[in-house]
Amino acid sequence: MSAPPDSARPRRALISNDDGIHSPGLAALERAAVAAGFETYVVAPDREQSASSHALTMHRPLRVAKAGERRWVVDGTPTDCVNLALCSILKETPPDMVFSGINLGPNLGDDVTYSGTVACAFEGTLLGVPSIAFSLDFRRDDPPAEEAWAETEAAVVKVILFATANPFPRETLWNVNFPSGQPVGVRATRMGRRRYGESVVEKIDPRGRPYFWIGGAHIDTAGDGTDLSAVADGYVSITPLHLDMTDYRALAELTGRKGPDLL
Ligand code: MN
Repeated sequence: MSAPPDSARPRRALISNDDGIHSPGLAALERAAVAAGFETYVVAPDREQSASSHALTMHRPLRVAKAGERRWVVDGTPTDCVNLALCSILKETPPDMVFSGINLGPNLGDDVTYSGTVACAFEGTLLGVPSIAFSLDFRRDDPPAEEAWAETEAAVVKVILFATANPFPRETLWNVNFPSGQPVGVRATRMGRRRYGESVVEKIDPRGRPYFWIGGAHIDTAGDGTDLSAVADGYVSITPLHLDMTDYRALAELTGRKGPDLL
């Protein structure tokens, strides 16, 4: 956990997302952070950047525009937003936590590696600020009703209050997924397996040339204790993720390997 803020000021939260600054999920997360006692600072992309992963823009300049009080919009990726916020825009008012989302759709299993929402939390963690990514499970063609946001918002407040009352291990972030509607409880989970293996659609464009579209269909392997099964059962899923992606078992096997030298 970062040093507790002095009591003279409220805790500050940097809020970003990958759905763009106009997303209703961002507005819901802002309201939840305020309800949990945070002063909010929004630095978000100017348009949808879903599935942009942990991309950092390095080969063109970035523009930042003021979009209101404690509110900025960036013509870059979710990671750009968090990086610029923590390293430049909010240098004088460093946030105590980074909150990302609420993503319009789940980030379950291997979605984590594609997700711009989760990348915001990775970037915050890399830069030393405890970070949480929030996503809401619903089908794209079936957006949540107004009441669903209120129920999710209330659950977000509880997760934030729990997170701030407990030590947050260094280099760990939380990937939090909410079921649509009223959750039946909360589960600590591990990543399930989600592959987008059979979702390519090939068609012919109006000029007679083939085009390809990677669709949203996925193959899930849920399994006991996974984020996928928790959300399917109506629970809030909290998966702690670590920045160190080393496979230590494989490292030990590689280190102890007999046979011809690799190098
Ligand atoms: Mn998104």
